[in-house]
Amino acid sequence: MRKLLTLSLVIVAVTLFSGQTKQESQKEFVMDKVEKSDQEWETCLTPEEYQILRENGTELAFTGEYYKHKEKGTYVCAGCGNDLFSSDTKYDSGSGWPAFFDALDKTKVNTKSDISYGMVRTEITCAKCDSHLGHVFKDGPKPTGLRYCVNSVALDFSPKK
Ligand code: FE
Repeated sequence: MRKLLTLSLVIVAVTLFSGQTKQESQKEFVMDKVEKSDQEWETCLTPEEYQILRENGTELAFTGEYYKHKEKGTYVCAGCGNDLFSSDTKYDSGSGWPAFFDALDKTKVNTKSDISYGMVRTEITCAKCDSHLGHVFKDGPKPTGLRYCVNSVALDFSPKK
């Protein structure tokens, strides 16, 4: 009887433990959102960054810091540092803005319909801080056929070490 009781306790302990482990690994998967008031964003961004990231602005074509940038590394969100695009997917689209044929990870870039300025486009935002990055179009190269057209101002670059 005592043995049976011990065995039951072990089973209960194992069940509880494995349940906890599962919960923790799920927790790790959920991205920590960066949420700030407009005032806080104004404090931590330059006026140009604020206009593009928080007010859906667009930098002038062919003027951005990363349009012709060819170094190996990772492009991160200028608002929160979230890893967004790899230099391995960057290409010259001829549009005047940095272009990528894929995001680093689908969970890091969100898309939503944008019907401003009389056009139907798909806006891309940082999944972590909801900052505006640019738009994604379906005229990109293989293998995805996508063109993530991103403002240089919305990006920072982290060189490959
Ligand atoms: Fe961000």
